Amino acid sequence: MNVDKQIYDIFIIGGGINGAGIARDAAGRGLKVFLAEKNKVGSATSSWSSKLIHGGLRYLENYEFKLVRESLKEREVITKIAPKITKPIPFIIPYTKKLRSKLLIRLGLFLYDNLVGKTKIPKSSKINFNKKFTNILQSHYKVGFQYYDVQVDDKKLVEMNINDAKKLGANVIENRKVINAKRLNEGWEIALDNNELIKSKILINAAGPWINEIVNNVIKVNSNKSIRLVRGSHIIIKKLYEEEVAFTLQNDDSRIVFVIPYKNEYSLIGTTEVDVNTPDKPKISNEEKIYLINTINKHFVKQISKEDIVDTYSGIRPLIEDFKEATRVTRDYVFDLNLESQNSPLLNIYGGKLTTYRKLSERVMEELSPYLPNTKTKNWTDSKKL
Ligand SMILES: Cc1cc2nc3c(=O)[nH]c(=O)nc-3n(C[C@H](O)[C@H](O)[C@H](O)COP(=O)(O)OP(=O)(O)OC[C@H]3O[C@@H](n4cnc5c(N)ncnc54)[C@H](O)[C@@H]3O)c2cc1C
Repeated sequence: MNVDKQIYDIFIIGGGINGAGIARDAAGRGLKVFLAEKNKVGSATSSWSSKLIHGGLRYLENYEFKLVRESLKEREVITKIAPKITKPIPFIIPYTKKLRSKLLIRLGLFLYDNLVGKTKIPKSSKINFNKKFTNILQSHYKVGFQYYDVQVDDKKLVEMNINDAKKLGANVIENRKVINAKRLNEGWEIALDNNELIKSKILINAAGPWINEIVNNVIKVNSNKSIRLVRGSHIIIKKLYEEEVAFTLQNDDSRIVFVIPYKNEYSLIGTTEVDVNTPDKPKISNEEKIYLINTINKHFVKQISKEDIVDTYSGIRPLIEDFKEATRVTRDYVFDLNLESQNSPLLNIYGGKLTTYRKLSERVMEELSPYLPNTKTKNWTDSKKL
């Protein structure tokens, strides 16, 4: 066994967007940070997303005003601190009489425009398909509504946070799995799969969809929270249309499918929602491919088939279990601060979105500040460019 002589302030399990954001924030406050990632940083859920920094217009239907407001604020902040990897892009909701009413969509967009206050992102508007974006959708779609959200390079967002964390002194290692964590009288002793032992005052479990595996098999503690694993898949096809515009398609089952311009030549189409038992090796099923293809073929002039799919990817949403249908389960995050011993705090992070990672990281610091005396309490990540 190799024992690292240092005692770190914070040990983070997981180099997804949440672990990366926390590492950057904490290192910038002068804390000694160690982050271990079992693969490459940003190689799991945080690179399998729809790549949007968005308020989540759809969550308004679930009355998640707090989450939408926070996400819209973060949309503003992240566009400012990561201008090179973010881009506002218009989204069109084609209107159909059979689904959400015009009044409901207008009300949702009014809130979306106004929940955040002053913003540089353009406000929503009505679109007439005889005048704009003609011949993309089938002719029974006459009008629609346009709003804006922000596209991001999700993997780069993780990498940029990690690079900053390293520059600020954090010790980040990749391809190292955390295999055990032992509570000491004071702090933790964490074992890595290369026989290295690391000591830290605080342990943070930011393992995304692997959170339960860490709680049950690595740290072996009780948690009163549980997570629901929901697979979301995307298909990628040669671009459906030339315009730099995305579509928010409504389905009869009340789910939403996005069609987003991707890497100049492609359209990214997703997602699905399928309950699964394991976070490992997510892969799109035939049914999911058909669901996404049918959604396209119901809306667009151009028809597609399985042969048009050039690539696919799937990710697992680590959603907090609240026993609702997957679409309605909250996308918000919850902390479980385990203080079985006051001298060795453990923070489990449940849920979350790419969009809210920075705010989540700030909240982690607030939550842990009583156990980290003499730490800089001033928040700093909202104004310092990545
Ligand atoms: C299909 C889909 C679409 C989405 N679209 C969006 C979107 O457009 N916008 C948005 O805001 N959010 C979106 N999300 C949500 C967002 O992607 C996730 O909330 C976010 O990426 C979760 O980040 P994380 O750091 O918690 O998890 P992850 O990125 O999964 O990171 C956890 C890391 O922990 C590591 N790990 C696990 N066990 C160990 C161990 N024992 N030792 C060391 N490391 C370990 C894993 O390898 C992994 O890299 C989407 C999610 C999905 C699935």
